[in-house]
Amino acid sequence: MHADRLRRVRAAMAEAGVDVLLLSVGPDLPWLIGYEAMPLERLTMLVVPAAGEATLVVPRLEAPRVVDRPGVFTLDPFGETDDPVARVAGLVGPGAGATVAVGDRTWARFVVDLQHELPGARWQRASTVTGPLRAVKDEHEVAALRRAGAAADRVAAALQQGDVALVGRTEAEVSAELGARLLAEGHHRVNFAIVAAGENAASPHHEPGPRVIRSGEVVLCDFGGTMLTEGGAGYCSDITRCVVTGEPGSEVADAYAALHHAQQAAVAAARVGTTCEAVDAVARGLLTEAGYGPRFIHRTGHGIGVEEHEDPYVVAGNAEPLVAGHAFSIEPGIYTPGRWGLRLEDIVVAAEAGPDALNHADHALVVVEA
Ligand code: ZN
Ligand code: ZN
Ligand code: ZN
Repeated sequence: MHADRLRRVRAAMAEAGVDVLLLSVGPDLPWLIGYEAMPLERLTMLVVPAAGEATLVVPRLEAPRVVDRPGVFTLDPFGETDDPVARVAGLVGPGAGATVAVGDRTWARFVVDLQHELPGARWQRASTVTGPLRAVKDEHEVAALRRAGAAADRVAAALQQGDVALVGRTEAEVSAELGARLLAEGHHRVNFAIVAAGENAASPHHEPGPRVIRSGEVVLCDFGGTMLTEGGAGYCSDITRCVVTGEPGSEVADAYAALHHAQQAAVAAARVGTTCEAVDAVARGLLTEAGYGPRFIHRTGHGIGVEEHEDPYVVAGNAEPLVAGHAFSIEPGIYTPGRWGLRLEDIVVAAEAGPDALNHADHALVVVEA
């Protein structure tokens, strides 16, 4: 699996005219070799020359965490008094005229020092090489996303069944419980757990706080985390369900019906060959027709994989056609400032046989007595 990814990376490097790829903290490294660099002052960096072996320069004290990948890279541990930047520069070579692609999340302190050591090199972002590859998931990655989605579904089902107490608790308390349930369902990390009650749900990325949930209001819950795979990389879940603590009024019920229809139509439209912007237009068109257009204030979705948000983005202006293996969210919303907000989100994989939805938790606006 990792050897295959490295082969594809080398092919993409050749096509982009990249001589050396340098990966440090961030999602590219775990995607490629199954190892996540610690975000520390000590440099961890994978050096991938166009020709020749890849080398992982890593602090000696972290070397025991690295799982050997024979034929993928060799390990070069350095001690506390060694200079890892000089080590990487040595592996890059003289550097004059070389094109170096460096991981987008690499700390500036290391990039600045490397640029000083390699004055003749040309620099570009590693995502020019890794982005298009990471956006198209292989079967292992789709399986990992499906497992993470199923785990998130179980948490959503618990919420919809009334197993998560809501009324009288704060958003922050419910957020903590959703996070704990994600971990109990097999995630190794919680990335976010938005719980937004009543008027707070009108802010799409609301930070759950001390607001106490009352009866008779919408509670928007949008949560996700990372689930490890045997290959070492973690893949993300991301789901939004809204519940109501008591029968909703007709205003909210009507809006939800329009939202549900738009979301399902956009999922159905997410077929191989359809452009990302066309999928966005389906959700936006239906909500506009229903009179909610100005209240749908964000894109329809984002790609998902080792990162919660990555390519491809389901947004106007993105004319990229979907290909088999693209994984992304479909999450339209309707927001009424000062009063309420609604969003419905599933993760979907574009497959030759049609859109493959990874989330199956009840799509209705469920009334919970909790
Ligand atoms: Zn978001
Ligand atoms: Zn979400
Ligand atoms: Zn999302």
